Amino acid sequence: MILSWNTTNKCNLKCKHCYRESGERLNGELSTKEGKELIDDICKAGFKIMIFSGGEPLMRNDIFQLINYAKNKGLRPVLGSNGTLITKEVAIKLKEAGVMAIGISLDSLNAKLHNKFRGCDNAFKDAILGMKNCRDVGLDFQIHTTIMNWNKEEIMYITDFSVAMGAIAHHIFFLVPTGRGKNIEKELLDKIEYRRLLTDIMKKQKEVSIQIKPTCAPQFIKVAESIGINSRFKKGCIAGTNYCIISPKGDVQPCAYLNEIAGNIRDIPFDYIWKNSTIFKELRTLKYEGNCGKCDFKIKCGGCRARAAFYNNGNYMAGDNSCFYYCK
Ligand code: SF4
Ligand code: SF4
Repeated sequence: MILSWNTTNKCNLKCKHCYRESGERLNGELSTKEGKELIDDICKAGFKIMIFSGGEPLMRNDIFQLINYAKNKGLRPVLGSNGTLITKEVAIKLKEAGVMAIGISLDSLNAKLHNKFRGCDNAFKDAILGMKNCRDVGLDFQIHTTIMNWNKEEIMYITDFSVAMGAIAHHIFFLVPTGRGKNIEKELLDKIEYRRLLTDIMKKQKEVSIQIKPTCAPQFIKVAESIGINSRFKKGCIAGTNYCIISPKGDVQPCAYLNEIAGNIRDIPFDYIWKNSTIFKELRTLKYEGNCGKCDFKIKCGGCRARAAFYNNGNYMAGDNSCFYYCK
């Protein structure tokens, strides 16, 4: 099971799709002490992988301490970062703290386009330098790309670039219109393009040795099976079943893009929320409605619960309208 903690809302970039609408630090973000207690409860709940994300997690002064605490508790800590603050010194400190891998965002091989999307003129240059610094100190990193209409034709080239840079994986995120992402809803792929790209991505996996993972595109499981590709991933959407996210102020949600709060860790211990909250229990029933409810693939795919909610007045058990198999 995997969990992501948005450790802070503070960020040095201003990305157009940011679900957290990050910028400034919020009043009342979890303290170091609260963070460590949270890590204790995450272990009790049986999670194995913990993502430290943000905002930009490197804007927290105690990030190395928190990562190290998680590592010593037996978790596999990973970092989700825009990469721009990873100097050689930071890379060494992350390695010493025990981080297992770092996900660095890269949305285009065209520096100008990446910088425009990320809201900073140095974003591209500094992210590439961050990757090189990770590589130089022997720290595993992977590249994260959000795929939209404007960069969809670049995606295979970014996979090739990931291989050339020495990344261990290329994770391809499909835009979900949440937070600032609502302003760029027009950048969402239509169903024909969505299906084409998922098919191309799964085929590309046969050509490269690094892991390619379509993320927040649960139909990829069915695509892989239909074209005879044995994906190493066995489940599409894992929100609330094997995954959840915690906000900078301690709200627990099934997924970053699904704005339903299962509880706050300042009121109720995380492990209790994870086991007992109504929303998690409901998601685990897999009793979906609409197209997902009737689908033979619902256990493996699950449909995107965030998109289901977004397009069905908050009903996260509704059918996933973005599905190209059953929603024409
Ligand atoms: S609900 Fe959608 S966005 Fe969230 S984890 Fe599932 S597939 Fe991804
Ligand atoms: S109908 Fe729902 S469960 Fe079936 S493939 Fe589409 S999104 Fe997945």
